[in-house]
Amino acid sequence: MIYGKLKKVNCVASHDMVGEKSSRISGFYRLEMEERLSKVADFSGLSEEEKNLFLKNGELSLAIDRSIADRMIENVIGIFELPLGIATNFRINGKDYLIPMAIEETSVVAAASNAARIARVRGGFTAWASEPLMIGQIQVLRIKDKEKALRSIQENKVKILELANAQDKVLVNLGGGAKDIEVRFLDDMMVLHLLVDVRDAMGANVVNTMCEAVAPMIEELTGGKVRLRIVSNLADKRLAGARAVFDKDAMGGEDVVNAFLEGYRFATLDPYRAATHNKGIMNGIDAVVIATGNDWRAIEAGAHSYAARTGKYQPLTKYWKDEDGNLVGEIELPIAIGTVGGASSLHRKAQICKKILGVKSAKELAEIIASVGLAQNFAALLALSTVGIQKGHMELHAQNIAVMAGAKGEQIDVIAQRMIEEGKIRLDRAKELMKELYG
Ligand code: NAD
Repeated sequence: MIYGKLKKVNCVASHDMVGEKSSRISGFYRLEMEERLSKVADFSGLSEEEKNLFLKNGELSLAIDRSIADRMIENVIGIFELPLGIATNFRINGKDYLIPMAIEETSVVAAASNAARIARVRGGFTAWASEPLMIGQIQVLRIKDKEKALRSIQENKVKILELANAQDKVLVNLGGGAKDIEVRFLDDMMVLHLLVDVRDAMGANVVNTMCEAVAPMIEELTGGKVRLRIVSNLADKRLAGARAVFDKDAMGGEDVVNAFLEGYRFATLDPYRAATHNKGIMNGIDAVVIATGNDWRAIEAGAHSYAARTGKYQPLTKYWKDEDGNLVGEIELPIAIGTVGGASSLHRKAQICKKILGVKSAKELAEIIASVGLAQNFAALLALSTVGIQKGHMELHAQNIAVMAGAKGEQIDVIAQRMIEEGKIRLDRAKELMKELYG
């Protein structure tokens, strides 16, 4: 591993309550990679084999990954890796979590940990998630009599739901399944929404299967022609949210809270800013979604369409001051996430990431993801409205540039440090320094 200073220090895991696991691990970032992994393994009860999968990439783990990859997609030629980091300090609904994040961008994991540390001062995050209701859409064309078609669907609702539910007994036995039908008319077409409780699955396959199965019955009942039958990624009946109070003193005082709110207001007025604001939220959300083997394109599509649901693209977070002058932050968005099914059940490392989180349900995972989104956004806005975003990026960015100039091992820190001191973090300068110092 090339990044980060490899200085060994004593790492202290604090205990908020005697005997309870704490994610508040100070100095975690200064540990060597193996030591970090050991801390996480102790926290989450990982076996030696599970630990080895992350660091050793031994023959066995590669063999597993290869064969699974070859079955996951087509024309496989290899495996594309991303760094996996752990965000510390998260306390959500009174429980401590270490959060696995798979991401290539510098500073994201550190920023999330920092925000969670500040949120922790006032108890951490309070998170919630709705029932896991997904929407399947069935597009019906060439309907001659709209009223008659609508009546026919309403009168046969139970029959349609029964046929949908016959497709997935496992889901129905778990308390899930098709629950209701909504009908919309868009211009000359009728659009039927099949509302499916998908329990702990992301749900796209289940919903698509059900929509395809009921399509012939819908044609018969409406006299129309069914065209598309597919899940909607605007999963606005499957929302998750989180709230936290960020202590004004831990943030740096009242002036910082005011500066933060001024910065936030920009996003509420301008879609150019709101897009970047929401991108920052997705830095955190996608990283956890990827680490747990979930479909991040689905989450992205859901988030941005939800942000635009009023017709004006808006930030996914809200901030205000409480009566004591502390900052309150809240997030809400669709989170169609699974702890079973899809790649999350196939990918070995994704399974271990779920074990690190200790999640028991898709609902709990959605609550964690919402909290990480809020933390990430808070950290970015705090930096932006005070010192600026580049300061935090600087050290790792300088190290990246040093690596691009050919630096290896200790040379990376030396070159990076010189460039920071000179205020010239550029590839041409890194190359010059490489020549000067190492010939
Ligand atoms: P899936 O079909 O692999 O697994 C879901 C099934 O697992 C359920 O149908 C059920 O039979 C079973 N199951 C066992 N225990 C369960 C539990 N506790 N809760 C719920 N189900 C349980 O996966 P899926 O979640 O239906 O589909 C997800 C996949 O669909 C993802 O890989 C995604 O990329 C893909 N996909 C997405 C889109 C889209 O987002 N537009 C479209 C097509 C496919």
